[in-house]
Amino acid sequence: MSPRHHLDETTVLGWASGALSPEMAAVAATHLDVCRHCRSRLATAEGIGGTLLEQQQPSTDDAMRMPHLREHMLAALDAHPNRRVPPRREEATAGPDNLPRALHPYFGTSWRSLRWRWLAPGVRMIRALRTSGHALILLRIDPGMSMPLHSHGGIELTQVLAGSYDDELGHFGVGDAADLGPETLHRPVTSAGGPCVCVAALDAPLRFPGWFARMLQPLVGL
Ligand SMILES: [Zn+2]
Repeated sequence: MSPRHHLDETTVLGWASGALSPEMAAVAATHLDVCRHCRSRLATAEGIGGTLLEQQQPSTDDAMRMPHLREHMLAALDAHPNRRVPPRREEATAGPDNLPRALHPYFGTSWRSLRWRWLAPGVRMIRALRTSGHALILLRIDPGMSMPLHSHGGIELTQVLAGSYDDELGHFGVGDAADLGPETLHRPVTSAGGPCVCVAALDAPLRFPGWFARMLQPLVGL
């Protein structure tokens, strides 16, 4: 798989420094699982971080404490939620009924066991319950559907798991990430063929400008 749309630089650096929310990290992990290009960018970012750590010149007092501090810092990095789901090679991806591993804590392990909730004609959703406060949703949209034009108060990170869609930014197929900032206004239209399934993490509510979309917003609850 060779995705054409990748994680934003900020997201890669956020992962490398452990600054992503667990929900953003889960979506980023589903992309890293299938994208050699972004794994390479991440390795570079982590390498730079490690070099900076090595190059710090401690004072004499600090030097006494440095081995302990360094040990503590590495232990903290290991314990960070982002580290629980290390990026791995796509060859290790399990069978066709298995959801991406990073999503298991939120949605279970099996596609067949998902309990979709009707949201609007042609649109189904599952919202993860146990989150840190940021929304994490699975969306299943029928082929040929036009979603309401919307923007975001914050960052929306979406990974396409099945099917595809087009919007103002291009064509997004399986494996592609849409890493959108608050300034992006878009109207995704799903492709013909099969349903489009995406996982998305949002760090602020969606903003719908149209009357239809405003009517939909309370239903979406985002
Ligand atoms: Zn990528």
